[in-house]
Amino acid sequence: MAEMVTMADVLAARRRIGPLVHRTALTPSLSLSEASGQTILLKNEQQQLTGSFKLRGATNAVLSLSDEERRRGVTAASTGNHGRALSHAAKAAGTRAVICMSALVPANKVEAIRALGAEARIVGRSQDDAQVEVDRLVAEEGLIDVPPFDRVEVIAGQGTLGLEILEDAPELDAVLVPLSGGGLIAGVALAIKTLSPRTRVVGVCMERGAAMVACLAAGQPVEVEELETLADSLGGGIGLSNRYTFSMVRDLVDETIVLTEKEIAEAIAHGYFKEREVLEGAAAVGIGAILSGKFVPKGPTALVLSGKNIDMGVHGQIIAGTHTALSEAA
Ligand SMILES: *Cc1c(COP(=O)(O)O)cnc(C)c1O
Repeated sequence: MAEMVTMADVLAARRRIGPLVHRTALTPSLSLSEASGQTILLKNEQQQLTGSFKLRGATNAVLSLSDEERRRGVTAASTGNHGRALSHAAKAAGTRAVICMSALVPANKVEAIRALGAEARIVGRSQDDAQVEVDRLVAEEGLIDVPPFDRVEVIAGQGTLGLEILEDAPELDAVLVPLSGGGLIAGVALAIKTLSPRTRVVGVCMERGAAMVACLAAGQPVEVEELETLADSLGGGIGLSNRYTFSMVRDLVDETIVLTEKEIAEAIAHGYFKEREVLEGAAAVGIGAILSGKFVPKGPTALVLSGKNIDMGVHGQIIAGTHTALSEAA
């Protein structure tokens, strides 16, 4: 039987990473609770160290390496937040990190990685191009590939966030989770479906380049073109040789929802004006699912706010109402 991610992996991850990551708060959203007539709770992972939940999986992966592997160093292809998190985790463990990313990644994210002492390599126009360089580093220089989502320790690390949500709110009807490669939602769904099988787990992403949604429709991992989007952390494919997240998402996730760029922009603005939070596009999709009416809460619902690492120039245009996405036809 193929190797699988289990609840034991999530519990082990929690013991391992506990001292190195924040246990973020689950807070009620007055605006969304009022708008929907149900209790809406926000899991504030935008307040996690490094500005996103990715620190959980990256830290668990680095702490799971053998001493010999740790001496060789780690590498990854990343749209930014995973690279940043892996750099932070590697630094904490005294390990070298080489982060490979495509030219679509915003400059603020590249700078943040270099500031953490990691090497940042810009390769090609897509996640797949960046992965070619990672494969070379593994083959020729012996580095360990810690991919952003398709690795047991990464999925288990992200799953710790699901444990925390249920500890704070045991009676949830649904949890809305941003969806890209699926490491986050796979880990969260594993924890939630194990502890509270009746809680629905819903994936949300952008229309433009909704890779996992296309793969679910095709019944297998397929190539999906990467497009520019306000939810840049959700860009990129799931990998044609995907090992874990595709089947976990297919088996554990109840529903997926896709949003327009305008809906994502409106959700970022809502997060800022009503919740007083700076959210990146990927993190705001749960808010967008509710505001757009594409998800109708039928009971207490938690939204995972996954990160805050947005280009502040773009954020400024969105809250000023001048961003082009806001004038798109509905
Ligand atoms: C990576 C990321 C996601 C999506 O996580 P996956 O495990 O790839 O599905 C969502 N939000 C933010 C901010 C991210 O960095």
